[in-house]
Amino acid sequence: MINTRLYRVLLYYMYVPIHNPEEFAAQHLKFCEDLGLKGRILVAKEGINGTVSGTYEQTEQYMKEMKEDARFANMIFKIDESDCHAFKKMHVRAREELVTLRLNEDINPNETTGKYLSPSEFYEAMQDSETLVIDARNDYEYEIGHFRGAIKPNIKNFRELPEWIQNNRELFDGKKILTYCTGGIRCEKFSGWLLKEGFEDVAQLHGGIVTYGKDPEVQGKLWDGQCYVFDERISVPVNQHEHVIVGKDYFTGEPCERYVNCGNPECNKKIISSEENEHKYLRGCSHECRVHPRNRYVLEHALTNEQVKKRLSNLGEINGLRTNQ
Ligand SMILES: [Zn+2]
Repeated sequence: MINTRLYRVLLYYMYVPIHNPEEFAAQHLKFCEDLGLKGRILVAKEGINGTVSGTYEQTEQYMKEMKEDARFANMIFKIDESDCHAFKKMHVRAREELVTLRLNEDINPNETTGKYLSPSEFYEAMQDSETLVIDARNDYEYEIGHFRGAIKPNIKNFRELPEWIQNNRELFDGKKILTYCTGGIRCEKFSGWLLKEGFEDVAQLHGGIVTYGKDPEVQGKLWDGQCYVFDERISVPVNQHEHVIVGKDYFTGEPCERYVNCGNPECNKKIISSEENEHKYLRGCSHECRVHPRNRYVLEHALTNEQVKKRLSNLGEINGLRTNQ
């Protein structure tokens, strides 16, 4: 198949010592900007984690030069074709951790991590009745798509995951545990942590959901919905065989896969909403957010006070008038 799409999105990480993350980040930003890439890269003493977009040539050059650095010689780049950049800007930031778990005792995945399963091994293992599949991502990522039957930890942030496991231990005792996340980086640590916690049979999806969806053998089978991604695409398809919609409209519960951020800039909550309901509810997740004086939906659509009042009235929220205009 001849690829006619002009851009590519690279997703990659590597746990490898980087001695001066601040200095590295500054140099790397310059390097990326000179190439013309856009994206978001995190650098820490424990390694690098990035998503960047650029033309075919720019991304080729980036991968080539990265691999010339002995630290990143074995880096695996997951490549998505795209029609345009997936970011507006280029950021490279130094951080304490690549993924925020804030464990008392940190995990080095190069020493302790769950068994790596290829997509086809994961596909087989997932169907074993003694196996529990646990989603290592945030709730809003799960809500738009996940492996069929996977457990959704009730967490808003990755760092809450260890405590959630400790509080729900009885679910996992004696079971084989499979973990998965978008590109694999979170599971490297999370599965290592599970082993340290005393769970014995722990495996992780190597390369994450993104690799699973491209695998020529499994082709994303048993994945329902879309895969949430942290760039302007918001979500990407995984299952090449069937498309089961699991996302539900925040307002009506109807099947939906469209994410928007709440119009209240101070809330910014990710909500799944049809276009129709976005208009109807002024993109607000609550009455307070709908009537917030800086509601972005209202500003973007230049709605008059009368128009806002009309929509609120349609929702039975007639008392919520904006008072500052
Ligand atoms: Zn809100």
